[in-house]
Amino acid sequence: MSHCMKPNALCFSELNDEVNHSNQQTVILGGGFTGLFSALYLSHHNYSGRILMIDRSERFVFKPLLYEFLNGQMESNQVCPRYQQLLHGTDITFLQDTVQHIDLTERKVELGSGLHYTYRHLVLALGGTVGYFGTPGAAEYAFTFCSGADALAIRQHTIQCFQRASQVEDPQLRRKLVTIAVLGAGPTGVELAATLADSAPGFYARFGGDHREVRIVLINRSPDILSGDVNDRLRDTARTALQERVIPVELVLGATVTAVHPDRIDYIQDGQPAVLEAATIVWTAGTAVHPLIKNLSIPETDRDQHGRPFVTPTLHLLNYPEVFAGGDCVTQSPPEPALAQVAYQQGKTIAQNLIAFSKGEPLQASQVSLRGTLLKLGMEEGAADVFNRHKVTGKLGYAIRQLTYLEMLPLPAHNLKVTAEWLEDGIFQRAQHKI
Ligand SMILES: Cc1cc2nc3c(=O)[nH]c(=O)nc-3n(C[C@H](O)[C@H](O)[C@H](O)COP(=O)(O)OP(=O)(O)OC[C@H]3O[C@@H](n4cnc5c(N)ncnc54)[C@H](O)[C@@H]3O)c2cc1C
Repeated sequence: MSHCMKPNALCFSELNDEVNHSNQQTVILGGGFTGLFSALYLSHHNYSGRILMIDRSERFVFKPLLYEFLNGQMESNQVCPRYQQLLHGTDITFLQDTVQHIDLTERKVELGSGLHYTYRHLVLALGGTVGYFGTPGAAEYAFTFCSGADALAIRQHTIQCFQRASQVEDPQLRRKLVTIAVLGAGPTGVELAATLADSAPGFYARFGGDHREVRIVLINRSPDILSGDVNDRLRDTARTALQERVIPVELVLGATVTAVHPDRIDYIQDGQPAVLEAATIVWTAGTAVHPLIKNLSIPETDRDQHGRPFVTPTLHLLNYPEVFAGGDCVTQSPPEPALAQVAYQQGKTIAQNLIAFSKGEPLQASQVSLRGTLLKLGMEEGAADVFNRHKVTGKLGYAIRQLTYLEMLPLPAHNLKVTAEWLEDGIFQRAQHKI
């Protein structure tokens, strides 16, 4: 980890001297959709305070495009660009480090490296974490799908299994090696299963295998896919699309997974225990509150049933006006869905309120406008539900999704311009004009 290489960054020791003793700085924890876009907005609008953004990763993860990275359609630099590149030319100081403790009373943040920082303003933008509902073996044996590293691990493991399968005579073992189980049929599970159902057969065929042997099994506790999700208007389209892939996705619905083993899943369906043998198992079934957020000194009465703290309409923690928070790590009443669309808009509001605060002006309430939903339903198939009015499917739906997300990518070459346009124009308005 060489922070000294970054032109606008300071070395650890310099940073510690210059920043740690300044109580005037704004510290942003987490460089995801909320944190990164909050920091960029502050920088674009000449915020007077010093901005320190801390993330444990050296790369921003553009999660909506992880499927394209998994199947090799897009490169890691596009989907997971380095913060060093994204923040080049801004006055944001980036520190790659892991936050270990947040002391709201002392206004202090402790990091894995041993460094600690005090702040005038804090932005909590740590996202959520994977929730396993106590399912035995799930954390140990199932892949997660949240980062570029996860996507690479799934691809490499699948390819290794397919390579082995191509040389195995035993049909039962071969069937297990070419079976991929996706647990959870929310949007991530549905999009992942659809992507794999188009791309995995080709991987197997490259080793001389019969692509029709590949199985993608989508297992869900609810009796249908996308239950209770903002994408539910696209459910029928998604169900049809899952059946029309290179190999149809097998749906196992109303099934509660009771244990995950290295190459097997135990579940109960219709009251009967059942087993699925699968060499690749991916868990997309749940999210949970981030442990650092869980450990904050905030009473249960100021949290929702999942333990996420409530924020005020102006996006600060109850009783802590100097701490702003947005995205998946907190909630509001009524709650917003856990979406990048919500997170970046909240990031913008947080930045605007920090600027207002610094000028002694009144803060504004967050007003998230959900402009529709987008689903990737295979290599070149998608569905867009624009403004909850226009449903666009097939290749055009896919094109809208791709254009929308490619335009959102905060790539270094067009970082400031594109990001500012994205923040200010609203992506779906343009998507609608393209219909
Ligand atoms: C596979 C997938 C696909 C998705 N597709 C879509 C989509 O198509 N459309 C959509 O609107 N939403 C989508 N989402 C949801 C969307 O990505 C999230 O709602 C959004 O990322 C939340 O933003 P955030 O800023 O709250 O958290 P995140 O973007 O998760 O950012 C949190 C950041 O905090 C950092 N962090 C966490 N813990 C620590 C620590 N201890 N120390 C330092 N840093 C830390 C992380 O490294 C991360 O960079 C998808 C999510 C996934 C997983």
